[in-house]
Amino acid sequence: MTTILDLRISRRCFLASTSAATAVALVAPRKLFAQDDGLVQTARRTAAASTITVQKLRGNVSVLMGAGGNIAVLTGRDGKLLIDAGFAGARPKITDALASISSDPTKHLINTHWHFDHTDGNEWLHSAGAAILAQTNTRKHLSTTTRVEGWNFTFAPSPAGAIPTDVFDDERILKLNGTTIALKHYAPAHTDSDISVHFTDADIFHVADTFWNGYYPFIDYSTGGSIDGMIRATEANLARVTDTMIVIPGHGAVADKSQLAFYRDLLVSTREKVAALKKQGKTLGEIVAAKPTAATDAKWGNGFRSPRDFIGDVFLGV
Ligand SMILES: [Zn+2]
Repeated sequence: MTTILDLRISRRCFLASTSAATAVALVAPRKLFAQDDGLVQTARRTAAASTITVQKLRGNVSVLMGAGGNIAVLTGRDGKLLIDAGFAGARPKITDALASISSDPTKHLINTHWHFDHTDGNEWLHSAGAAILAQTNTRKHLSTTTRVEGWNFTFAPSPAGAIPTDVFDDERILKLNGTTIALKHYAPAHTDSDISVHFTDADIFHVADTFWNGYYPFIDYSTGGSIDGMIRATEANLARVTDTMIVIPGHGAVADKSQLAFYRDLLVSTREKVAALKKQGKTLGEIVAAKPTAATDAKWGNGFRSPRDFIGDVFLGV
């Protein structure tokens, strides 16, 4: 039996859990995890073996996909800026991917929120020369013991080198590599630490884990998230997005306005259905059995979060 004490391991070791399927579901499609020899080992092996793709977007912005959350990269004479750090175990592959884009050293790292699939690589990137910037609550959660009920896991404080050294509350404007980067804190949505990153010249909008494109999202109620917060953040994203803007989700393929609108409709319709059934007195099990997300389950429910996981997250907030 795994105890809470056992779970308090370093983020570098990723995590342990009484429910391997629940926790590793975040990392990659479930089918990759059929072989379960312990969650830590499984997660390490998976991160190290992950396939990272590099997608050039516009201007001097690219995105790395496959090492945890999506990682945006801005290159130039001021050194590379990374938006999120991915898994520590993917360091060799991330290093190769970064080198394939340009020879600029990595000087800057911004975390879109505190979750480990976006911050696990903070320590090695800091040791490689990156200063870390984030919203105040990201530093708070990384600095302290933080429980995530939805993953049945308690994170120990991160090592000193992984802690952001520069934080902001609401907004920050940066000028790097000849371009402007606008950071904005969302009201609590996926967590209480989420920010968006707008590369204003290339008009690329990284909306972090407020948007999961093609996968049911995880909603972290333990650190301030909620379905209503996710919907509000998505409405705010839609109010800003234009027909020509490139949208980077926290997970899933690079998107545009129409895909963001589809996701908004999915969140809203699922909330309405689950709330109505809950109001009738239905249990979570009965609501899952009623298949309120049947139309999208085949496409959206086979990856990071199952239909049951997603419906459970919505159920908690209505
Ligand atoms: Zn997240």
